[in-house]
Amino acid sequence: MSAVHYTITSKQPSSHVFNITLTISNPDPQGQIVSLPSWIPGSYMIREFAKNIVTIAASSNNKKIALTQLKKDVWQAAPCKETLVIQYDVYAWDLSVRTAHLDQTHAFFNGTSVFLRVDGQENTAHIVDIQCPEGSAFKKWRIATALPELKAKRYGFGTYHADNYDALVDHPVEMGDFALVSFKAHGVPHDMVFTGNIPNLNIDRIADDVKKICETEIAFFEPKTKKAPMDRYVFLTMVVGDGYGGLEHRSSTALICTRDDLPAVGQKEQTEGYRTFLGLCSHEYFHTWNVKRIKPAVFAPYDLSQENYTSLLWFFEGITSYYDDLFLVRSGLITGEQYFTTLSKTINNVLKGRGRLKQSVAESSFDAWTKYYRQDENAPNAIVSYYTKGSLVALGLDLTIREATKNKKTLDDVMRYVWQQYGKSFYSKKGGVGIPEAAMLALFEDVSGVKLGSYFTNYIYGTKDVPLAKLLKVSGIEYTEKKDSQASLGIRTSAQKDLCKITHVYEDGAAYQAGVSAGDTLLAIDQLKVPAKGPETLLKRYQAKQKVNLVVFRRDELMMMDAILQNQPAQVSLALAKTTKQLPQWMTK
Ligand code: ZN
Repeated sequence: MSAVHYTITSKQPSSHVFNITLTISNPDPQGQIVSLPSWIPGSYMIREFAKNIVTIAASSNNKKIALTQLKKDVWQAAPCKETLVIQYDVYAWDLSVRTAHLDQTHAFFNGTSVFLRVDGQENTAHIVDIQCPEGSAFKKWRIATALPELKAKRYGFGTYHADNYDALVDHPVEMGDFALVSFKAHGVPHDMVFTGNIPNLNIDRIADDVKKICETEIAFFEPKTKKAPMDRYVFLTMVVGDGYGGLEHRSSTALICTRDDLPAVGQKEQTEGYRTFLGLCSHEYFHTWNVKRIKPAVFAPYDLSQENYTSLLWFFEGITSYYDDLFLVRSGLITGEQYFTTLSKTINNVLKGRGRLKQSVAESSFDAWTKYYRQDENAPNAIVSYYTKGSLVALGLDLTIREATKNKKTLDDVMRYVWQQYGKSFYSKKGGVGIPEAAMLALFEDVSGVKLGSYFTNYIYGTKDVPLAKLLKVSGIEYTEKKDSQASLGIRTSAQKDLCKITHVYEDGAAYQAGVSAGDTLLAIDQLKVPAKGPETLLKRYQAKQKVNLVVFRRDELMMMDAILQNQPAQVSLALAKTTKQLPQWMTK
């Protein structure tokens, strides 16, 4: 038996409880310390997974021994000479790619939610025996994971193997009676697994499309050899009525998506929802290189007990967000026009909030733990997204480098350079290092030969808007700002039963100036009831600069305020200039 061995099963999946046994054959004679991570890589927020441990006990030689809790997520067993066994139950009822979820229909877990880390033995081999719940209801269950099999058939129950703890928790596991499709991308086997009730899923169409994305991305990083960095890749997809999200791993990804976004058999058209799904696959797959192997130095290795601060998430998430949709065009899955629609949406999204003038993408990266991941009603006025603005920063960098070098150097070259320099050997025997925080500018300048100091100062470490109108024009794309004549209160709302609840108040908008607050219920405008879905139809009868009377409830207190309506923010749209014959080079290769 290896030094660290787990069995995981559930005696009763409908109770949402995993039963786990951790066996340590040579425990620390001073008293073995074990702990559970506070966060999961890729999702930068302290989540304190240990709160889901329901019971925990230690024994050795079949005798119970003391297990003392030292911190919220750390325990120490009494010293023992023989094998130490720790048995614990974990409650798993969070339908998210970040944690664990279990019922009679399926089981999903990330190692960070269920596997205690054995202090001092993190770098030894870890073995997991995954056991099927007992009973005829689970006869059809299979396993999907990129964790290598030790004594198990592919998709079968049995033992799986990880070289160390870091690898163990980087391979999420799905169990259930799922739909499965397989394809090869440049010779490497890929599986796509779909869990959930999905009538007539057109799984072959999805596989055909995703294969194109995978092959484009593999060839992007290794244009000569077309060698993928992993032996095998698995997409674990949880399909629900309404949901969206993904989390990257070194050889797999966990996704959650909306049923209606996936094509049915016989459905020919390509919906916007399906493009969103393909963009998500493209995004998480790109992370196989960017952030799972090319990493900031502070993630090499991760410290899973506390926040790991980096100001580089604009690079790891922003650049990944830039390439996710771009690869849909480069793979021929969407048209240039469709790409322009998506890109202009991102631009309009970024320009909407005043937070972008207060926080840089570097600061947004650093504060991800308390700000981006813990957004409140004031977020649009206080913060910027290192995803959306980060993707515009990446586009701007690409266009700036291409313009200065007449397309001889590109952001693609920078990515291939960091791949060769940092990423490629990361999980090899000789090991790898991450990119130091301060090295980024010099790295870009070395590869491109372009001076980018002021670009970094203005748009990455500063809060200026990336001058995309100017940069896009050079590659033959027209950036048009259309004034919107629709009158606006500058709020975001959500329906709460038959009432209209204000969720966000944009700084300096009409409602903001009038003294309206997020959390207020908007009852009436000029004595007319505001529909639960929002005030837009009522406002159609008005124009900017007109005064309206607002009636709101703040908690249970009725308040009246006068607001001077404003115009909706101008909307950016993009199109090829009339004189441009074909898509610019950056969109096609
Ligand atoms: Zn991402």
